[in-house]
Amino acid sequence: MEKLCPVHATPLESGGRFWHCQACAADYRLLGRCGSCGAELERIAACGASNWFCNQCNELKSKSSITTEMVKVDLG
Ligand SMILES: [Zn+2]
Ligand SMILES: [Zn+2]
Repeated sequence: MEKLCPVHATPLESGGRFWHCQACAADYRLLGRCGSCGAELERIAACGASNWFCNQCNELKSKSSITTEMVKVDLG
C-alpha cells in the first residue's frame, strides 16, 4: 500500500520499518489511533499481517475501526 508524505503529498519510499521522503529528508512511520477512545495503538505484526492493539480498550482493533496517519520519526 502506498503512503504519502503528509507535507508534500508525494509517495514515500518504503525502507523496512519506516518510509522515507526525500524532499523532507526525513523518515515517517505509520501511527494507528483507536476509533473508540483516540489512544495511540500498538502495532503487532503476526504471520505477515499486522494487528492493532489498544491498551486503553484492552482489545485488538480491526482496520476499519481505527484511523492511521504518517508521523515523522525523530531519530535525533
Ligand atoms: Zn515530504
Ligand atoms: Zn481504544
